Amino acid sequence: MNEVLVASDTPGAPIMLTGVSMEYPTSAGRVQALVDVTLTVGSGTSTAIVGPSGCGKSTLLGIIGGLEIPTTGEVRVGDDIVSSMSDQDRGAMRRRAFGFVFQADNLQPFLTVNENVGLQSLLAGLPDEDAQRQAMLDALEIGSFGHRFPDQLSGGQRQRVAVARALVHGPRVALADEPTGSLDTASSDKVVLSLLRLHEQKGTTLVVVTHDRSVAERMDVVIEMRSGRITGTSAVSS
Ligand code: ADP
Ligand code: MG
Repeated sequence: MNEVLVASDTPGAPIMLTGVSMEYPTSAGRVQALVDVTLTVGSGTSTAIVGPSGCGKSTLLGIIGGLEIPTTGEVRVGDDIVSSMSDQDRGAMRRRAFGFVFQADNLQPFLTVNENVGLQSLLAGLPDEDAQRQAMLDALEIGSFGHRFPDQLSGGQRQRVAVARALVHGPRVALADEPTGSLDTASSDKVVLSLLRLHEQKGTTLVVVTHDRSVAERMDVVIEMRSGRITGTSAVSS
């Protein structure tokens, strides 16, 4: 397990998908969610994944982050073959090296903001340090809300708590699945800006699934998908 943690912690280790396909068995037959996807996400880069609903964006993000393993194909982080790891090793790597933000904030309703965020550090095997947690909340402009419960916050504030939770343990890779889908423009700008700031300040690799063109255009690379395939990759000129 140590080997896994060391390699995925190595700065510069890219995430590489080779010939990745994903099939889901359903009562109506097999659904081909991804078809022969080959992709490298460079360390420290920012990437947007765009495309119509059902084209495989969330499936691709889940495979990049080791939440799921593909039906066929290989997923590597540096020298580690994630797609062949035991569930236990893959889980340990995921908790340590990755941070996830989903459209729903998925906060624990009976835990305070401090407890929700601190829990993530503990899951990553790190101490929950007050100063580190507070700095993260301050950076997201929710520094005075640590003792509140999720239902005492607005939707935008809750989503920023979800960002703090995803990033407090200093993951090398932040993955966000339509993190701004349910928010108004001002709140969604704050969420995206906070992710981008972290990417710029700490070199965190960032991959964002988004319907929002203005969000996509802020990333280094835009990946376009259709029917489970990558149909275009463009580098955005800054
Ligand atoms: P997107 O995020 O672009 O909307 P998804 O990756 O969620 O697309 O889904 C891609 C395809 O895979 C869709 O046809 C979807 O219905 C199917 N799918 C996704 N997850 C599952 C699952 N757990 N079981 C069965 N089918 C799934
Ligand atoms: Mg999706």
